[in-house]
Amino acid sequence: MTQSTKEKSKNGEVKPTSPNSDLKLDFDSFWEYSEAPESSDHIQLKEKYDLFINGEFVAGNKGRMMNTINPATEKTIAEFTEATSEDIDLAVKSARRAYEKTWSKLTGKERGKYIYRLARMIQEHAKDLAIIESMDGGKPIRESRDVDVPLAAAYFFYYAGWADKLDYAFPGRKAEPVGVCGQIIPWNFPLLMLSWKIAPALAAGNTVVLKPAETTPLTALKFAEICQDAGLPDGVVNIVTGAGPTGAAIVDHPDVDKIAFTGSTEVGKIIQKSLAGSKKKFTLELGGKGPNIIFEDAPIDQAVEGIINSIFFNQGHVCCAGSRLLVQEGIADKLIKKLKERMETLIVGDPLDKNTDIGAINSKKQYEKINEYLKIGVDEGATIHQNSKELPENGYFCKPTIFTDAGQSNRIVQEEIFGPVLTIQTFRTPDEAIDKANNTPFGLASGIWTDKGSKIFKVSQKIRSGVVWANTYNKFDPTSPFGGYKESGMGREGGLHGLYPYVNLK
Ligand code: ADP
Repeated sequence: MTQSTKEKSKNGEVKPTSPNSDLKLDFDSFWEYSEAPESSDHIQLKEKYDLFINGEFVAGNKGRMMNTINPATEKTIAEFTEATSEDIDLAVKSARRAYEKTWSKLTGKERGKYIYRLARMIQEHAKDLAIIESMDGGKPIRESRDVDVPLAAAYFFYYAGWADKLDYAFPGRKAEPVGVCGQIIPWNFPLLMLSWKIAPALAAGNTVVLKPAETTPLTALKFAEICQDAGLPDGVVNIVTGAGPTGAAIVDHPDVDKIAFTGSTEVGKIIQKSLAGSKKKFTLELGGKGPNIIFEDAPIDQAVEGIINSIFFNQGHVCCAGSRLLVQEGIADKLIKKLKERMETLIVGDPLDKNTDIGAINSKKQYEKINEYLKIGVDEGATIHQNSKELPENGYFCKPTIFTDAGQSNRIVQEEIFGPVLTIQTFRTPDEAIDKANNTPFGLASGIWTDKGSKIFKVSQKIRSGVVWANTYNKFDPTSPFGGYKESGMGREGGLHGLYPYVNLK
């Protein structure tokens, strides 16, 4: 509350004069913040990155380079190597050697010590990793600082704890490592996805060849430096960079025992086809179109914050985003009004500014895709509402957007947009909400907002999605499994479930 709405009583206590008397908000002045940019002057990045194979940085066999840009400025940050299939072969051989000679020979306790060390070193480098993540990927520093990096360390800590307790994880069975794991990750949570992949693999005694996405390779390359500094035995972690063909070379390599992929459903299907008939184990974590269901008895203000967090968080670059809002008719008008007002307060801009709520869209390709969907939504007859503030002149930025009057068969309701775009539909009964929630090809995550515990249990049982959040959204914890139904993927990551794909049980 601003000072103008308050007066001081005699004892110094601040009291509202007449509640809401002058609360007609002038959003521009009320939410004006001074700039608070995080400095990136001290960040040490190389101009050119080689591949990390067998414990050292080595030039690629053909020497082909790619650029990674800062999507907020469109300026190149660094060059990195495009690994060829010959490079992948070297990386897989190095992982195989490390698997046979060192890593699988260590006791669980010794492996655990290394993984704890990696976790602690991520914490020690937390600030720099967060800044690099925001520069390379466009996400607000508040998120990379408070969500991505601390969670990445937490996943390493969690799986370090399992390394010497595999007999308790799988009572009565002997858990053997799978061997060499090929891991391919996307650009929305680069370091966090790396931790989801590498930590359980190492804990179970496997070695890895990991490829970050071509638009966000930098934190993975920094992690390679951390592996060196941690004294991790050579070849246990290999980081190879490149785009789709490099990923395909990992998938197709005959000496890889397991593939873990997170990315688009489209590429997931290609990978699954290539793996058909091979003995390779695999997990796929793919797209989503998360329904967020708000019942009439929900705590409405918390629900508004939850909705904002579920779709505008990380520019909507979240596979489990609550991109479809289903709201019960009786509260629809009130909720939509509050939501639009809250959306108006969101700050879109410099990812390194601590006030920023919505940073830059990760790449030009993704920026164009989102804008294409905005056109599709309007053409389909939905009503578009956007935050009215100007966007920065340079860089790839999108306004947070709400579509009302969206129909179930509309493409904006059925297809994953992967941007700060929310569709809103209404429902009358819980059954109608469940039908609408389940009526897409995806099933990754969903939310339910209600005052009634019984309704949470009843509805969540019938929703076909891997995660159902109740009266919250986008909460992650290393101990709980994550993964999808239908076209959202196969297998689970996180928690005890996340160890299964990395072991053979005897
Ligand atoms: P998006 O479409 O959201 O960019 P992708 O699924 O294309 O996501 O990318 C996720 C990861 O998969 C990236 O690391 C990318 O380089 C990699 N990739 C893309 N195409 C292939 C492919 N055919 N085989 C293996 N990996 C691939």
